[in-house]
Amino acid sequence: METIIRKIDAANMTSDDFAEAAKLLREGKLVAFPTETVYGLGGDAFDPTASARIYAAKGRPSDNPLIVHIADIAELERLCLNVPEAAYLLADKFWPGPLTMIMKKADCIPKETTGGLDTVAVRMPSHPIARRLIQESGIPIAAPSANASGRPSTTKAEHVIEDLSGRIEMIIDGGSSDIGLESTIVDLTCSPVQILRPGYITIEMLKEVIPDVVYDRAVLKREKNDNIVARAPGMKYRHYAPKGELVIYEGESRAVVEAVYSAAAEKLDGGSRVGILASEEMAREYRSRLDRRPDKGFGAVIEVVGSRENEESIAANLFDCLRRFDAEETPFIFGECFTSDNLGAAIMNRLVKAAGYHIEKV
Ligand code: AMP
Ligand code: MG
Repeated sequence: METIIRKIDAANMTSDDFAEAAKLLREGKLVAFPTETVYGLGGDAFDPTASARIYAAKGRPSDNPLIVHIADIAELERLCLNVPEAAYLLADKFWPGPLTMIMKKADCIPKETTGGLDTVAVRMPSHPIARRLIQESGIPIAAPSANASGRPSTTKAEHVIEDLSGRIEMIIDGGSSDIGLESTIVDLTCSPVQILRPGYITIEMLKEVIPDVVYDRAVLKREKNDNIVARAPGMKYRHYAPKGELVIYEGESRAVVEAVYSAAAEKLDGGSRVGILASEEMAREYRSRLDRRPDKGFGAVIEVVGSRENEESIAANLFDCLRRFDAEETPFIFGECFTSDNLGAAIMNRLVKAAGYHIEKV
């Protein structure tokens, strides 16, 4: 199939810009669109065939439920049963925005959309293009991240084109996603409320509304074989992975630079290309060390993910950075760990998975 690419400028858009996309969605077809977190792959949440198409286009296991996107809080009553008071308190504070809430689903949501579960995940995004698309189509839009299953999520239309071109009807190009990591997911069906996936809305922020909120234990998981199974089905799969093998190093910063450099140098010595996932602060150190090698570090690719002083920059660049290593065809990638405080919890959750839990302590 030929995928239509439609550029839309959020600062200057009209209903006409959305006419074709809205029509496609109402017909059960698929449209990828930008949100403030990552790009989503949208279909009619009420249409089981559309959901099945989403799974097929992504190559996603069909037990992995989709998030339903709405543009109006009133929709909660239609999509969910027994909406708890906490949902309104959270919506008041964080919607529209990067927070997804899980509640009991109403009958109008087919099991195909919820991966067979009797709960549904709902989010009201803040991105103007996402909101307008939902409004113009007049239906709630089921949308997982718009990447091929297992690969890093997509934060630019180019990423979506890379993964899904020819497999879906349309991609709306609205520029880069600001946040760059998927939404925080909270499960309101359990007590205390649990965070199933960390994101831009941190546990500290949630505690201001729900003081006893806790993490699902799987969120903090650092070991591959520790028997803790994630409660969000999607969190149990290999995820976010670049094509090359990624190892991340944790410890005092001098020791980390030393370890990352040595691991990279060893691969260069063996004649292999190698990637270094670097913070802005450490990048120069890697570069100058590589320059001192007889081969001047030829075959090593340094990608700067962001500044340690600015976690938001790391979140915004992480997936793009992992995808750039794929483009550079580096079979091995070595990288730094970041702190797990605040937004760092979400960054490290994704990075640890991208590395398949391969963390070296130095
Ligand atoms: P994605 O849209 O790719 O960010 O993936 C959606 C995430 O939400 C996956 O990790 C799903 O497992 C999770 N999710 C969606 N609906 C539910 C639900 N009803 N219960 C638990 N997790 C859910
Ligand atoms: Mg995803």
